[in-house]
Parts: sequence; C-alpha cells; structure tokens
Amino acid sequence: MSVLVVNSGSSSVKFQLVEPSSGESLASGLVEQIGEPEGRIVLEFRGEETEKRREIADHGAGLSAAFEMLRDAGVELGSEVTAVGHRVVHGGEVFFRPTLIDDDVLKKIADLSELAPLHNPPNVLGIEVARHQLPDVPHVAVFDTAFFHGLPDAAKTYAIDRDVAQAHGIRRYGFHGTSHEYVSQQVAQFFGRADLNQIVLHLGNGASASAIRAGDPIDTSMGLTPLEGLVMGTRSGDIDPGVVMHLRRSAGMDVDEIDELLNRRSGLKGLAGVNDFRVLGQRIDDGDADAQLAYDVYIHRLRKYIGAYMLALGRLDVIAFTAGVGENSTGVRADALANLEGFGIEIDADRNALRSKDIRAISADSSTVTVLVVPTNEELAIARAAETVAQNID
Ligand code: ADP
Repeated sequence: MSVLVVNSGSSSVKFQLVEPSSGESLASGLVEQIGEPEGRIVLEFRGEETEKRREIADHGAGLSAAFEMLRDAGVELGSEVTAVGHRVVHGGEVFFRPTLIDDDVLKKIADLSELAPLHNPPNVLGIEVARHQLPDVPHVAVFDTAFFHGLPDAAKTYAIDRDVAQAHGIRRYGFHGTSHEYVSQQVAQFFGRADLNQIVLHLGNGASASAIRAGDPIDTSMGLTPLEGLVMGTRSGDIDPGVVMHLRRSAGMDVDEIDELLNRRSGLKGLAGVNDFRVLGQRIDDGDADAQLAYDVYIHRLRKYIGAYMLALGRLDVIAFTAGVGENSTGVRADALANLEGFGIEIDADRNALRSKDIRAISADSSTVTVLVVPTNEELAIARAAETVAQNID
C-alpha cells in the first residue's frame, strides 16, 4: 500500500508514489513546460524512465497526463493508493497541521491565494484533479508554512502598523517547513536526543534557514512569502523595501513587473545570468567576475543568518545542510563556515569532500558544534503525514 504525493507547484507538477513505512519510492515523475507548445512528462518506474512530449494546457491537464502515464505503466492506482498527500504552500493562519481535504478546506486553501498568488492556485488545481481521479481515498493537505505556525511573536511580527498588518494577514509565516521539520527530526534521531539547538540550512533553488530549539522553530528566514531571506536561484531574498517604491516611482514598473523581477530574475540569476549552482561553479572556475560576485553575495548573506541564529539560540549544537546545494556543494559548506573556529565551528576538509546519500558529520572532532549533511525527503514526510491523517479518520 502506498501514498501518492502530489506537488503541483508554480512551474511544474511533481508526483511520487511512496511506501511510507519503508520510505521506498515506487514511482516518481515530473510534468514541466506547462502552457508551452511542447510540455514534457517524465515517469520513472521500476528503474526505467519514460518521457512523453505534448501540449499541456495547465496544471490540471499536467496531473491528468501524469495519472495516465502511471496507469499505462501498469500502476493500479485505485487499489494501490491508500491516500494522496498534497504539498500546499500557504496555510496562512488557518492551517497548521496536515489536514484532510473536503470542499470547505479546499475553498479555504483557494481563499489563501491572496497571500500566495503564484503557489496556491496551482496547488488547488492539483487537488481538484487528483480528487476527481481518485475519489475514494482520503486526500490530505500538508502545508509548507505549518511547522513555523508557532514562531515566537518577536520573530513573526513585522514592525509595521498593527492594524494594517492584522487586516491583511501580514506576518512572517516561513516556508520549506516540511523539510526543516524532517531534517531537524533526522538530526534528533541521529543523536538520539530531542533537546538539541540546531540551525537548518535548506539550500536548493529556493533557500531558507531556520533556528530550532528542542524541535521547535524560533526563527526562519522566509516571511510573508518565500521571497525574504537568503539569496536564492532566482529570488533576491532580503532587500530594502524602499527598492520596490523606487522601482515603482522612478523606473515606472508596475507591481507584476516588480514581482517578476524579484522572484524570477534576481538572486544568482539576476547577478550572474544562471540559477543552477553547478553552472555557476563552472563560470567561477572560468574566471567570470559576475559569477564570483553572485557567489560572494550568496555566502555573505548565508553567514549573516548563521550568525544571527547562533545568537538567537544562545547555545548551538548542530548546523545541518540540506537540499540540492546544501547536500552537494562542498565549497558552499566550507565557505559558509570558514574561519569560525573561535565560535567552536570547524569543518574537516576530508569528511566534507566525501560523497554519500546518508546523513553524515563533516565537522572536525575538535568542533564543539557538529556540522551535518542531511538529505531531505519532503515527499516521504508528506506521505507519512498523509498516512497518519488517513489512519485517524473516524
Ligand atoms: P528545488 O527543490 O528548490 O528545486 P533542489 O533542492 O533540487 O531545488 O536544488 C537545486 C539546486 O541544487 C540547483 O542550483 C543545483 O545546481 C544544485 N545542485 C545539485 N547538485 C549539485 C552539485 N553536485 N553541486 C552543486 N550544486 C548542486
């Protein structure tokens, strides 16, 4: 028996059939180039990859195509799938735990689109199609914001007029919560201790940092939207909000253009023209000054957050690197934590250079803070959450 995990995101639909207890991935796939003349659907099943290309009008059509490919490959969705877990980006103040989806819940998720216009609408479409295709199994929404719901007031409050903030739901929500929670639990398991103070660095295309005290987050770098915080593949992260007014007044850009600039044409891409870290690394090796600057800005911001979270936590036990860049880039890990011996943080170069798919320590024995690389697995976390909700339906 397995759980189908659906991530109907802003630019693609990802899906995976997961066996929650073993953690095994039975099938996985991706639908991308949605809305373009030739969309792409890829399915990996029993070690074989199949690819189809055809026009995919929207996320709903994309997910329908994914279901069709799974069925064509011989997956008996009706009998094999016990629950469907949906990644939903914004749960607002309304949702803070995995939630069984009914019409009312779906409407509330749609209403939250005001807070997440790029993310919640495709999430809703994905849920609608999946419910239509698999009407007899429970569908569960797992929210990216949920883990950070209980952030302390001082960390979640923006210093703006309180009435305006209240009227418009403006607070820091935090995102990538499923990954930060999963990774911090893996760390706790690795040590067999729940009382650890951790900094988790989720460095993928999107990137975020969190400070976690004994399992509970006390701060995180993303805010009302996933735009705040670290430098990312295509997002600026922190900037002076005055930049937005300046662009509006002096450059005559409208709000959608500024949104697009800060979310899709900034970060590494804005500075160096590429958002893929591997390509960035090659450009740096070739002597490209823009790529070097992009990297330096990225590392500078990352170190700023690490420093801030060390103070917020008071005592630091673990720094955990995760996601595409965090799990794979030895250089980023080394540079992010260089010259911090005075703070009890020291990386061992040989351990850092080792490649592995397992959780592993890369700090020196003399380091008082343990530095770990922890592979994240949001799909498995969603599958387990969905299974738990499904098992507890009265
Ligand atoms: P997301 O889930 O946010 O799309 P991922 O967690 O998959 O992103 O991370 C994607 C990023 O990880 C890309 O910038 C990619 O270049 C980077 N990455 C993947 N493998 C490596 C590697 N071996 N070395 C450096 N960066 C890598």
